[in-house]
Amino acid sequence: FEDVSHPVCVGLEVAGQGVALPLTPGRPDTMFENDGQITKGPMRALTLAALAPRPGERLWDIGGGSGSVAIEWLLSHPSLSATTIDPNPDRIARIRRNADQLGVDRLDIVKGHAPAALRGLPPPDAVFIGGGVSADMLTWLGANLPGGTRLVANAVTLESEALLADAQEKRGGNLLRIELAQAEPLGSKRGWKAAYPVVQWSVML
Ligand code: SAH
Repeated sequence: FEDVSHPVCVGLEVAGQGVALPLTPGRPDTMFENDGQITKGPMRALTLAALAPRPGERLWDIGGGSGSVAIEWLLSHPSLSATTIDPNPDRIARIRRNADQLGVDRLDIVKGHAPAALRGLPPPDAVFIGGGVSADMLTWLGANLPGGTRLVANAVTLESEALLADAQEKRGGNLLRIELAQAEPLGSKRGWKAAYPVVQWSVML
C-alpha cells in the first residue's frame, strides 16, 4: 500500500511484508483501489456496525463500487460470505483485484443492475444499499426477502434521502443522519471541510 503514513498504518509496515491489515472496519481508503466512488473509512465503519455481521452470515452489497463494504464484511470473520453487485465493468474488475489483494478472494461478484440481478442469488442475512436505491428496489427486497433480513441503506442525494424517509414512515426502522468534517488547511490556518451528509436507514424486514 502506498499510504503507509496514514495514522492507521503507521508502524504497521513489516520489513519486506507490506502493511499489516487492521482488524476493525473503517480501514484507510488507500487500502482499496478506487475511482473516488468509495464509502469513506469513517462512514464505512458506521455502516459495518449497522450491518452487524454475526458468524456464518451472508451479505448482499448492492452498488459495490470498489467492493470496500463487502470486503470489510468478509474481513470481520472467516465464516462470513458476501455477494457484491455492480453494473459497471471497470468497477467489477477493480472489486476482483481489491478482494484478491486483501485476502478475501471468496467474495462473489455479480455484474448487473439490482434488483433484476438479485434474482436467484443465495439469500442474504443482511443487505447493504450503497448505490442505485429506488422505490422499485425497496419494494422488490421487501417482497422477496424473508422476514428477519437486515437492511442498511445509505443516501447522499436529496432524492434518495426522500425515498428513505418515505420508507421509514411505512416500514419503521432507524434513520441516522451522519455529518462528518475533517480539519484541513484554510489559508494559513485550518478549517472544517464538511463531507456531504449521509442519511442511513437501518431496518429489519
Ligand atoms: N460502497 C461502495 C461505493 C458505492 S458507489 C464502496 O465503498 O466502494 C455506488 C455504486 O452503485 C456505483 O459503483 C454504481 O455503479 C452502483 N450502482 C448504481 N445503480 C446500481 C444498481 N441498480 N444496481 C447495482 N449497483 C448500482
